[in-house]
Amino acid sequence: MNSIHKHIIMALLFFSSFTLFSQNTYKQRLTLMGSRFDITVIAATEKESDAYIQIAIDEIKRIETLISSWDPNSQTSFINKNAGIQPVKVNTELFELIERAIKISKLTDGAFDISYASMDRIWKFDGSMTKMPSGDAIEKSVAKVGYHNIVLDKKRVTVYLSKKGMKIGFGAIGKGYAADKAKKLLQEKGVKGGIINASGDMNTWGTQTNGNPWKVGITNPMNKNKIFALFPLDNSAVVTSGNYEKYVLLDGKRYTHIIDPRTGYPSSGIVSVSVFAPSAELADALATSVFVMGAEVGINLINQLKGIDCIIVQDTGKIVSSAGLDIDSKKY
Ligand code: ADP
Ligand code: MG
Repeated sequence: MNSIHKHIIMALLFFSSFTLFSQNTYKQRLTLMGSRFDITVIAATEKESDAYIQIAIDEIKRIETLISSWDPNSQTSFINKNAGIQPVKVNTELFELIERAIKISKLTDGAFDISYASMDRIWKFDGSMTKMPSGDAIEKSVAKVGYHNIVLDKKRVTVYLSKKGMKIGFGAIGKGYAADKAKKLLQEKGVKGGIINASGDMNTWGTQTNGNPWKVGITNPMNKNKIFALFPLDNSAVVTSGNYEKYVLLDGKRYTHIIDPRTGYPSSGIVSVSVFAPSAELADALATSVFVMGAEVGINLINQLKGIDCIIVQDTGKIVSSAGLDIDSKKY
């Protein structure tokens, strides 16, 4: 090897170690989509990290505008307002999100259903509810629920809710989708590693600056939130759905915000579900699904899906996991 070559190699080595050492981890906590977001990026300077995080914020806000059912001007609200009236032309992006949501409904036998949303006229988790809704009211509302009645026209890119009073909502998939999209955009901008954590719906890429993988601690809400297992994440997502953040207490019983679309009643038996998957969108949707399906049926489904795993904390305190996870070896 001649000396010029040596110099080039030395220069390259120096450059790569220099870039490694000069990378830092920056994190910002923000409120977006009505939830807490923690955005972590690896960057050379704080200024650079601010610019990256701003890109993620703008992307998440853009998605919120598209899928929010609170914003009366969103395409989603327009679909809902036209239920039983007419099909609504939407962005391809929203159309495809709805298509994927319906696929998950089919996969979960209707445990996951974005048309659960008409139930939010009955079940309110904002503190305004003081007594159990009547069986009659629940029955009337649940009659509007059913993904079979979401009519998609691929050619015209329209969505039609065929029953009057029907409503869709992305509460169980939207944060995961936003985390995926923000990650994708930052990767495209050249950000080597990071975490988008949307109140427990998180997606990661790259590694920590020391080369170690990002890790996620799974907590047990029944045991003062103590971490009981620690898992490395390699360019993948983990999402936790719990019954302890959004719920209503009626006659001393806790009713969670996850509704069984088939009965119209909040699902029970599970305290938290964490799902590991390649994307946060899928993990998010499946965490909600497993909640509704219950531990046994839920684990059965997850065991059939390649590259997807879950951990369930049941209200009896029992912790169960899918076949691909070895909780004991990850004891914290
Ligand atoms: P979190 O919002 O706590 O992360 P989830 O991802 O499980 O929890 O989403 C729960 C939200 O999803 C509810 O607040 C509601 O908006 C919506 N939802 C409730 N039940 C269902 C269901 N069976 N299928 C689809 N979405 C649902
Ligand atoms: Mg979910």
